[in-house]
Amino acid sequence: MALALEQVGVAFGGFQALAGVSLVVQPGQVMGLIGPNGAGKTTCVNVLTGFQRPTGGRVMLGGRDVSAATAHAMRRLGVARTFQAGRLFTGLDVLDNLAVTGVGLGLSRHHAEVEAIRLLDWMGLAGMQSRSAAGLPYTDERRVAIARALMGKPAFLLLDEPAAGMSEPEAADLAALIRRIATELGVGVLLIEHNVGLVLSVCAHVVVLDGGRVIEAGDRRAILSSRAVREAYLGA
Ligand code: ADP
Repeated sequence: MALALEQVGVAFGGFQALAGVSLVVQPGQVMGLIGPNGAGKTTCVNVLTGFQRPTGGRVMLGGRDVSAATAHAMRRLGVARTFQAGRLFTGLDVLDNLAVTGVGLGLSRHHAEVEAIRLLDWMGLAGMQSRSAAGLPYTDERRVAIARALMGKPAFLLLDEPAAGMSEPEAADLAALIRRIATELGVGVLLIEHNVGLVLSVCAHVVVLDGGRVIEAGDRRAILSSRAVREAYLGA
């Protein structure tokens, strides 16, 4: 069951933010999405998660056309995301941040708490359960946001710049977590990152956007040897 964009276009008024974008995220794989600022990366995530309707093309989930699905429907269908800013519920503790999300997905309070505890444990965050979400250090907030996105056992997880503001060792820890999410949970991950080194170290397959179009797609070698990618990044 794959998650895909097929020839997707998005126009904001007269401005074409995406044009003819196709990409496929497979279960159990981490796919990278990179490109300069304004390339259309976040817009892709918004379309894949029902936050933005495409003005052309289709969004497909397991062979089904979900182009018209709402954000809530996409989440229930198993497509979860994080945002550039953590967006935790700051009035709640860490456990409740996850449990409330589980209840919103249709779990009973009890099941939501059991799943939340299991997830926090799996991520090495068990000691953080009763901490207020408001005062968390930045990297912990990021991890809790990822844990919350994993509530309800989504098939796909879309991460929008999860390593922003992290040191190299913190980013390396995050990279290890992303690999585990794909290999141990079987989740298909789409990773948007400015840190291209991180993307190339984690992702078997990378798509490069520029000006709302796919300018390159392939494995690490293909991306590193691509003239189009060099030109997009260096403006050369
Ligand atoms: P990236 O994530 O690659 O930096 P975005 O997807 O955020 O790029 O944005 C792509 C382009 O679309 C940018 O030029 C941005 O200004 C524009 N854009 C994004 N969202 C909107 C919107 N809601 N209305 C108008 N323009 C938008």
